Amino acid sequence: MIESVIKCPCGSTDTHLSSVEVFSRADEAKTGLHAKISVESQPSSFTYDNEMDGNPSSRRSGIILHCWCEHHDPDDPDDKDDFDVYIQQHKGVLYTSLQLLSDDEVEVYGFPVVTP
Ligand SMILES: [Zn+2]
Repeated sequence: MIESVIKCPCGSTDTHLSSVEVFSRADEAKTGLHAKISVESQPSSFTYDNEMDGNPSSRRSGIILHCWCEHHDPDDPDDKDDFDVYIQQHKGVLYTSLQLLSDDEVEVYGFPVVTP
């Protein structure tokens, strides 16, 4: 088994998973199944609809891991502690990316998916 740690863009490994969204659809379909499970607060919640808004994949299915990091100032609106890990199917390739919720694109940190 290959394990790796998802790091916050600040470099910290003190990160938490708050919710997961899954978008499932046929190729380029306008609708599909969109499910969201909030995992951090208990009891956890589950919602679903048929909307594809927010799908990381422009053509197929995708997954978003909503995460947050312990090492940011909650009172500073410029110090974002939330970030997303995107997994998207595009043609025959699975891509991953990490994105701050401020929409600043950052490189992928510590999230190797390709097996040796
Ligand atoms: Zn951080």
